[in-house]
Amino acid sequence: KVRVRYAPSPTGLLHIGNARSALFNYLFAEHFKGDFIVRIEDTDVLRNVEGGEESQLKYLKWLGLDWKESPDKGGPFGPYRQLERLDLYQKYAEELLERGLAYKEYREDSDKFAIRFKVPANETYEFNDLVRGTLRFESKEVEDWIIMKDNGIPTYNFAVVIDDHLMEITHVLRGEEHITNTPKQIMVYRAFGWDVPEFGHMTIIVNEERKKLSKRDKNVIQFISEYEAAGYLPEAMFNFISLLGWSPTGEEEILSKEQIIEMFDPNRLSKSPAMFDKDKLAYVNSRYIKKLTDQELAEKTKKYFVNEGIEIVSDEWLEKLVGLFKDRITHLGEITKLYHGFFHDEFKLNNEELEVLKENNSLEMLKVFHDKLNETIDFSDENIGNIIKETGKETNTKGKALFMPTRIATTGDMHGPSLPITLSLLGKDVVLERLEKAMS
Ligand code: GLU
Repeated sequence: KVRVRYAPSPTGLLHIGNARSALFNYLFAEHFKGDFIVRIEDTDVLRNVEGGEESQLKYLKWLGLDWKESPDKGGPFGPYRQLERLDLYQKYAEELLERGLAYKEYREDSDKFAIRFKVPANETYEFNDLVRGTLRFESKEVEDWIIMKDNGIPTYNFAVVIDDHLMEITHVLRGEEHITNTPKQIMVYRAFGWDVPEFGHMTIIVNEERKKLSKRDKNVIQFISEYEAAGYLPEAMFNFISLLGWSPTGEEEILSKEQIIEMFDPNRLSKSPAMFDKDKLAYVNSRYIKKLTDQELAEKTKKYFVNEGIEIVSDEWLEKLVGLFKDRITHLGEITKLYHGFFHDEFKLNNEELEVLKENNSLEMLKVFHDKLNETIDFSDENIGNIIKETGKETNTKGKALFMPTRIATTGDMHGPSLPITLSLLGKDVVLERLEKAMS
């Protein structure tokens, strides 16, 4: 049975690169109907951060991943935190000492010692990497290396083998920075006479300048928590991340989790770096936003309005409002930003906009429009649409000459969604006030 793992070090928040490792392991397990487990590799004690583990698990869940075993869920192969498994590593290290496959290295003036693995002479470590094909290393390229530090804590390359073996991991999918660790790990498997799992090393993620994506890259959102805050939908992120170094067979790239699981094929993992394409991310997310009902979109965006101090007139009002923007936003947080003038009475008109108001009979037309609106009680978009038409007829204006000045005067923008709906949402008082201001 296929068993794969995501083994984060809790040294920070869930990063887009980690999320990809986790997601590909998850897809692998789901596709082959195996187990996906999470193990916390916390032996680099000084780099562990408070809340690191929680953040990892929380945002994996947010992305829609699920797992069978983990520190919080438990499982038959626990504990799932390496610091809780120190006696195991100690036991196996002692076995290697007894068999002469490792040796002690005393610290000066101390009875504390580290344990070093004795790299065998003239061995070859060859493995068939799932992404890159056959890779080969010679033991003479590797120096004797520490497996247990003198504080009783194992190093990554040792602990990972003990755990992957005891947890019956069959496939190890991880980032390419671990390729050179693999021969060290294979020599430990061999020392114990254990089966070696299959390895697959995913390529790096690069930015649009083809440079390795670094955590300091300001042009790319780095942490999954930040994507959530900006209003990226988890389903869209799942879809987008699955395309970072993997490609489906057909043309269609907007795929549900179920479709991706079904289609997932490790043979289609890319051998060249995965490009983080921001336009593609915006496109994918906007496609998922369009699938939401107005009600769902209203619920998900409410917090952005609240944060901006924009008064929500009613639930229906909000639903109608967000419906206007659904096709225009690439992330939910954009909803209050796209159309500044809609939400703020204080807007400045630029020269081009001021010109439009001065053109032809704009001001007379606005006056007629204003007076008609002033008389009406029915501020529905249907009725406003009719009033716009009547105004056009009476003032002999149509098309751009009718709509453009009206839009500019009431929203401060030359372009935007349906004018009748916009005005109906702004409400009579605000619209009249803004028209008066424009005419003054
Ligand atoms: N803790 C390691 C890391 O975060 C895991 C590497 C592995 O999957 O073997 O890079």
